[in-house]
Amino acid sequence: MTQPKVYAQPNLITPNRPVIIDPEVCTGCNLCVEICPSDVYIPNPQKGKPPIILYPEECWYCGCCLMECPLHDKGANKLNWPLMQRMRWKRKETGEHFRFGMPNPPPPNKRPMV
Ligand code: SF4
Ligand code: SF4
Repeated sequence: MTQPKVYAQPNLITPNRPVIIDPEVCTGCNLCVEICPSDVYIPNPQKGKPPIILYPEECWYCGCCLMECPLHDKGANKLNWPLMQRMRWKRKETGEHFRFGMPNPPPPNKRPMV
């Protein structure tokens, strides 16, 4: 009896890409596939190629795949935050802009609650 073939395609209906993988850097080790708690990825059937993001809408933006990736510091992968999570704020006195994850964020707000 012949085995049925199974095909996997990236979800084309939701073009959102929660993680951007640089195919020039990624070695296809699939550590990110293993660690993802939400099973966003599947391994690429072509050995050595980046994993396929099959369920982008399932991503929690937890960052586990970035922390697990041995080549993250070399630019293998990065999170592609949705617009609503790209919060930033501005200090009125100086005009400085701040956002999450920046190395020198402003001090915490210690004003009393009103
Ligand atoms: S950020 Fe978290 S949920 Fe999203 S793909 Fe990476 S490990 Fe999976
Ligand atoms: S862990 Fe990094 S190098 Fe390995 S497959 Fe994922 S993105 Fe590519």
